Amino acid sequence: MEKTPNLVIVSPNVKYSDDFIYADYEYNETLVKKIDNQLVAQPYSKTLSIRTQRKVGKVGVMLVGWGGNNGSTFTAAVLANRHQLSWNTKNGSLDANWFGSITQASTVRLGLDEKGNDVNVPMNSLLPMVNPDDLFIDGWDISPLNLAESMARAKVLDYDLQQKLKKEMATMKPRPAIYDPDFIAANQADRATNLIHGTKYEQYLQIRADIKDFKDKNKLDKVIVVWTANTERFCEVRDGVHDTSDNLEKALRDNEPEISPSTIIALASIDEGCCYINGAPQNTLIPGVIERAEKRGVFVAGDDFKSGQTKLKSVLVDFLVSAGLKPVSIVSYNHLGNNDGKNLSAPKQFRSKEISKSSVVDDAVQSNGVLYRPGERPDHVVVIKYVPYVGDSKRAMDEYTSEILLHGTNTLVVHNTCEDSLLAAPLLLDLAVLAELLGRVALRAGGAWAALHPALSPLAYLLKAPLVPAGAPVVNALSKQRACIDNLLRACLGLPCLHNMQLEHKVP
Ligand code: NAD
Repeated sequence: MEKTPNLVIVSPNVKYSDDFIYADYEYNETLVKKIDNQLVAQPYSKTLSIRTQRKVGKVGVMLVGWGGNNGSTFTAAVLANRHQLSWNTKNGSLDANWFGSITQASTVRLGLDEKGNDVNVPMNSLLPMVNPDDLFIDGWDISPLNLAESMARAKVLDYDLQQKLKKEMATMKPRPAIYDPDFIAANQADRATNLIHGTKYEQYLQIRADIKDFKDKNKLDKVIVVWTANTERFCEVRDGVHDTSDNLEKALRDNEPEISPSTIIALASIDEGCCYINGAPQNTLIPGVIERAEKRGVFVAGDDFKSGQTKLKSVLVDFLVSAGLKPVSIVSYNHLGNNDGKNLSAPKQFRSKEISKSSVVDDAVQSNGVLYRPGERPDHVVVIKYVPYVGDSKRAMDEYTSEILLHGTNTLVVHNTCEDSLLAAPLLLDLAVLAELLGRVALRAGGAWAALHPALSPLAYLLKAPLVPAGAPVVNALSKQRACIDNLLRACLGLPCLHNMQLEHKVP
């Protein structure tokens, strides 16, 4: 592959120092007011300074559920790429890559060349980002298997690749984890033998000690914690327990049963100053956790990796609604046979997934008051079945029925077969890489430098039910989420928003 040349911005609005890239940026928006039955739209512009720290430092990722299909596949992908491995298959020799990762395998339009042609560059060449080859990996799992054994159990990777990774991965052993049978499916009990015992507060302290140990041993500058463990049931959010950081602290010390393992880990991560990313659908990021993140100035992001069916849904519904077609019925069936599917075969854990998969059409529907009356929504049903034989190869079948011209109907049927973990592992990487980068970005509008809001909504592209700051609108449409990332990274370089007008080619 051709090496990407270094990028330099030549602009009176951009300055490089040894430590930072400084950019002055005009943020343009339009204020709309309704005055006497008339909409008045008023463009405005805000001058921002954006500062990006250039030094990436040593970065570690700790996975909760390290020994699962995603955890072992992610680890294998990092090692396979780091060592530039090739392996034999019935289709010949294959090489490692990061396909499916937007930071490593997608490009962003930079501008145009002298002939008017687009110049696109890999996303990871825009700003200093951690190289996946340099990541340190650690984590926890309730299952005691080492990573080589986990990789074999997952049945995701080609046999020859597993053989090449086996020796190194056998040295990686998940730390004991927090198991609470009340929160994950009963069918997980037989693998839960690698456990942190004690009260919830003692478990919290142990997780903090683990993060510190990983950080100290490897002299890391930063650690990012990602939940890729089994989906928990929703916790019942109660006033006086989950509503504030202080109440949650008290409840934790009182060993309150309705605090989930994922919430304990989120609190421990935040208190260690580590970004916490919730890759599963449960409501880990309850108000008390978010308040704690805000107080400590630490990022949290969630919920639920947006890998296959939901990603496509967030494209298709956006396309249909913006084409002036009216989706009226969306029915999604899945069957899968991996351990995630086994856990989701329990009703309460399925319910968490159902909730995170359901909200994905909301913003597209609400954006179009021509098609939908206030409060009107399409019928939307999600079914998940556990079929052991198909293993990690998930089957997703979707039917989208839309009303078209003069009440005709148009039905689209989509069938998708894919190794689930090979879609999820690159998302896990992107979440870590982008969270780390955004942690080095600060903005100011005249006053002091400020970090981005702790509810890290720019990662929404990678998540099914994106967490946003209180009161902020949720954006699910994939193209808007992607435009947000591209334009945010460009803004850090003082480059204007991508407008796609290409007037160079449209006016004489
Ligand atoms: P998996 O069952 O193979 O892996 C989960 C791992 O978590 C298991 O090894 C399990 O032993 C461990 N675990 C359970 N509870 C734990 C705890 N409290 N602490 C530490 N470890 C614990 O599942 P997977 O396919 O790797 O998926 C992981 C998660 O990601 C699931 O919640 C799934 O719903 C979510 N997810 C996956 C995808 C995808 O495409 N693969 C997409 C979106 C979300």
